[in-house]
Parts: sequence; C-alpha cells; structure tokens
Amino acid sequence: MPVKVKYLILGGGPSGLILAANLLKSGEKSFLILEKENEPGGLCRSREIDHSMLDIGGGHFLDVRNRKVLDFVFGFLPENEWERFDRISKIRTPKFEIDYPYEANIWQLPVDEQIEHLKSISNAGSNIGRRQPEKFSEWITWKLGSVIAHNYMLPYNSKIFSDVRLDKLGTYWLYKLPNVSFEDTLRSCLLNKPCGTLPAHSQFYYPRKYGYGEVFSRIADFIGKDKILLNYSVKTIEVDHLGVNNEIFAEKIITTIPWPELLTSRSIPVEIRRIIRQLRYSSIDITYRSSNQSTNAHWTYFPDENLPYHRLLFRHNFIAGAKGYWEETNSRRVVDGQPCTHHNEYAYPINTRHKPEVILKIMDWAKSFSIFSLGRWGEWEHMNSDVAMNRAINLADHLVSA
Ligand SMILES: Cc1cc2nc3c(=O)[nH]c(=O)nc-3n(C[C@H](O)[C@H](O)[C@H](O)COP(=O)(O)OP(=O)(O)OC[C@H]3O[C@@H](n4cnc5c(N)ncnc54)[C@H](O)[C@@H]3O)c2cc1C
Repeated sequence: MPVKVKYLILGGGPSGLILAANLLKSGEKSFLILEKENEPGGLCRSREIDHSMLDIGGGHFLDVRNRKVLDFVFGFLPENEWERFDRISKIRTPKFEIDYPYEANIWQLPVDEQIEHLKSISNAGSNIGRRQPEKFSEWITWKLGSVIAHNYMLPYNSKIFSDVRLDKLGTYWLYKLPNVSFEDTLRSCLLNKPCGTLPAHSQFYYPRKYGYGEVFSRIADFIGKDKILLNYSVKTIEVDHLGVNNEIFAEKIITTIPWPELLTSRSIPVEIRRIIRQLRYSSIDITYRSSNQSTNAHWTYFPDENLPYHRLLFRHNFIAGAKGYWEETNSRRVVDGQPCTHHNEYAYPINTRHKPEVILKIMDWAKSFSIFSLGRWGEWEHMNSDVAMNRAINLADHLVSA
C-alpha cells in the first residue's frame, strides 16, 4: 500500500473513476482510489440476475445531450454497442395511466378529466400572478395546480423522499423538472399531442449487450487494479496533513463519498460536523421480479401511496432478450417479507431548503485544506451520471493545469 500519493480519491463511483481516468490520460500516475465496496462503479453498477443485467443502483440511462461526456464514454464502450431509445415512461395513478410528463399529456385523458385539469392549472398561482413560494410542497400546487399536485406530484414525491416532509424541500432544483406552461397544456389538449420543453432523458442510450455498469467496469480496467484499493472504507480524514484513516497521505484529496461517512474525523471542526449532520439523504431498495409486464414503457412512476415502490423498470423493453422488471422502493417503505436484490444506503441527496448554504460552507472549508468535493455526494447534489462525469473531467483538467 503506498504511503503517499499526489492525489487521493475517496470513492470509486463514476466521479472518482472518471477523475482518475482523466488524470491518467494526461500522464499523471501518482493517484489512488479508495473504495469501500468490493467492486468499483458506485450507484452505476450492474449485476447479472436471472440471465440478464440489472442496474443494482436503480435504472440508469445515459442522456444524449453532452457531447464531451459521450465522446469520453464512447472511448470505452463504442457508440455501436449502445442502443438509442426515445423515452417511453408513464405515470400510473389509481385512476388512470398517462405518459410522462403528466402536464404535457393531459390530452390522453377523457374529456371531462381534461376539463378538470385545465381548470385547475389555469387557477394555479403561477398563472394568476401569485409570488413563487419557497417550499417545494407549495410550489407544486402553485406551478401545476391542485389536481396534478394531488394525483401525482405530492404523493409521488412523498414516496421517493419519505425521509423528510415535503415542506422541508426547497425549490432551487426544480429546473430539472419538465417546463410545461398552461398554454402548452391547452395547446396539447387541442392538438392531441404533447407540447412544452422535453424532459431530461427524452432520448437516452443503454448498452445493447450489457448493463449500464459495463462502461464503468471498463474505465476501472483502464485505470488498473493497482490504482483502486477495494474493500477499503474511509473512516477518518486528517485535514492538517491530508491523510485518510491515518494510513494513506496525499498532496490533494478529492472526496466523492457522502460527507456523513467522515463524521468521526476529529480533525473536522465541531461546527463543520454540526452542519454535515444537516445533510439529508434517502435510501432505496431494488427488488427484481421475474415476470414480464404488458407495457411498452421503459419505466413507470407510481404515485399510489398504497404501493410501496415508486417506480418499476421494465428491462424486457430496453435489454434485448431480458425478462422481468425491478421495483425501486424508498427503504423506509419496504414492507415485511419484500425481497431485496440490492440495498442502496445513499441513493438521493435531499434538496432541503438550506442545503445550498450548508454544502457551500462544507466545500469551501474543505477546499482551504486542498480537499476538493466532487460528485453526487461530495457536492450533495441530485446529479445524473453525465453531470458527475462532466464535473470530474473539468476537475481533472483543473488539477493537472494548476
Ligand atoms: C435510482 C437512481 C436512478 C438514477 N438514474 C440515473 C440515470 O438514469 N442516468 C444517470 O446518468 N444517472 C442516474 N442516477 C445518478 C447516478 O447514479 C449518479 O449521478 C452517479 O452514480 C454519481 O456518481 P458518484 O461517483 O458521484 O457517486 P456514487 O455512484 O454514489 O459513488 C460513490 C462511491 O463512494 C463509495 N463510498 C461511499 N462511502 C465510502 C467510504 N466511507 N469509503 C470509501 N468509499 C466509499 C461508494 O461505495 C461508491 O462507490 C440515478 C441515481 C439513482 C439513485
């Protein structure tokens, strides 16, 4: 085990791997990844279950929009090994099923339902000039009207973020949601087709023969076994002399692991530890089911509070020759006896109202000791893997050019 390296990378998920691969590509060899699990890939891992691949961190699809990231990824898993899909995702409420995004597809409902929805959207706060609220729970009704709020957005988000009350969430992250105005909804009802800005992943890539994790296995192979220390859990960080577990030392540390993992570090000041405790996250369990469902959807969202899971992923519709589907359930909602194919302790960083100030303080404090925060957990941001990869490429460029 090396005692000192130039760059110590905490966590071997996509952020850590892509950072390391870019260091290596630029000729830098003095680095080491520390990874707690027995394999790299983080939330983006896949495993063979019932003769096909299954994404054990939940369904993962590669967005088609970031050319720099695509070029990087296709360098390891060439584009002809991916299938490009037009997204088919649905929302199944207790009353009906509708394509996602809901507000762009109200035209699919019976006319009386359409009228109820349109009346409610036209009366929504955003359409009658009310000020935008700061709480997520109020924002939903303000933006989409009470019918969509009660049929879908409130129950669905309560399920996925069961760990906190929805009025604890902020609104600064809502640029991620589809942006469909009342006029777009009205137009879509008149024209019988969706209108408005398309959501993320309206087109996506998924590997033809593998799970999403294949690309990260290949990147890990490129980095080399000697540069990734598996089954190594980071428990403490020593900020003054840039060490980890008082065993491995570096000139710079890049952390992609969840901040609460470092809470026992005595070298982190009490005030910083206090605010780390304010960061909230949710966990999800993945449950594989071997039957096929009669649907053409790639995945479906379930706001029904009587069902434990919030999303089903129909892998028979995006992996050739696969059967079965999997459920994603917030771990707090798992019912007794429900089989668990994989538990993900850290799944969603939760966008609480004060999170932006909290994480900024932590990151600024860390940076003053040459500890750089990266990725979904380092930056505590609900980011997709293409964004994580993009930031890792940029940080590697910054580090080698500094
Ligand atoms: C249900 C779900 C669906 C998603 N769908 C998509 C999608 O369709 N498309 C998409 O692009 N993205 C999707 N994402 C997001 C994607 O998973 C993340 O953007 C990506 O995994 C971020 O990579 P990361 O390396 O920052 O974090 P992670 O993947 O979480 O990696 C962190 C790594 O740190 C390790 N670690 C943790 N603690 C320690 C410790 N103490 N010591 C050492 N190592 C430690 C972990 O084991 C892990 O390997 C989804 C996420 C979830 C939860």
